Amino acid sequence: MNRFADRTVVVTGGNKGIGYAIAQRFASEGAQVAIASIEPQVEEAAAMLRDGGGDAIGVICDVTDGEAVAALYDRVDERFGPVDVSVQNAGIITIARIEDLSERDWDATMAVNTKGAFLCCQEAIRRMRTSGRGGRLVNIASGQAREGFIYTPHYAASKFGVVGLTQSLAKEVAIDGITVNAVCPGIIRTDMWDYNDRVWGEMLGEYGPGELMASWVKNIPMKRAGEGSDVAALIAFLASADADYITGQTINVDGGLIMS
Ligand code: NDP
Repeated sequence: MNRFADRTVVVTGGNKGIGYAIAQRFASEGAQVAIASIEPQVEEAAAMLRDGGGDAIGVICDVTDGEAVAALYDRVDERFGPVDVSVQNAGIITIARIEDLSERDWDATMAVNTKGAFLCCQEAIRRMRTSGRGGRLVNIASGQAREGFIYTPHYAASKFGVVGLTQSLAKEVAIDGITVNAVCPGIIRTDMWDYNDRVWGEMLGEYGPGELMASWVKNIPMKRAGEGSDVAALIAFLASADADYITGQTINVDGGLIMS
């Protein structure tokens, strides 16, 4: 399939994990892809996409910084033209008992996961409205946007916020031919999950390395953890012409773990 030939796609947090899988999927379907993250390694990840035959650039951008986010979309404009699809994927998590949860961790989590999504949507919408071509925004939420889990109230709040952002923007920009949807991954094998397995596992007290992951996977009706490619496939659908009439939705991609 070459559904995204001549389309410009931005993926934040695109240098690894779910974001890299999303970037790979769009690149393989003909898109011009800009991946953004805070580490200089983002350029190495873009080079890997190019080695695989994709048209990709890497941009260092902290999504919590409005000026940096504007500069990211300016750079994309210069290199590829106006953005058609923007995937707000950058995210962080920390795990702590409520007495130990610092104001700093609360603020940082909200800043990356919720404000970062807001800033990127805002810059993308400005450009999509100006281009007159419409566009697609996809925000990465989480199973924790459906139900909060223990020791992560800040993360759950930040991801519920992503759903609110999604619904409100979907109503505002539908008239401009722009759709806005959210995606809730379940348990996906990435560096983030390695951290979760180790820290949550230790805090819950009964789990050695890899055991928490394994116990949660047992609760998934499909009996397997997700891969980045599972999430990428849903996002590619939401960005495609087949999803023209879908907006303001929040869709789980979790092997049936959460059914609400
Ligand atoms: P990773 O930890 O593997 O990747 C996170 C990405 O976010 C990295 O590219 C990182 O960049 C980037 N990032 C972090 N902070 C910033 C920032 N301030 N500005 C720009 N980029 C930033 O996580 P996953 O791939 O697992 O997660 C991707 C998304 O999916 C997140 O939003 C996460 O909350 C969500 N999710 C993940 C699940 C899972 O099971 N893995 C489950 C549910 C949701 P860098 O490498 O440069 O630090």
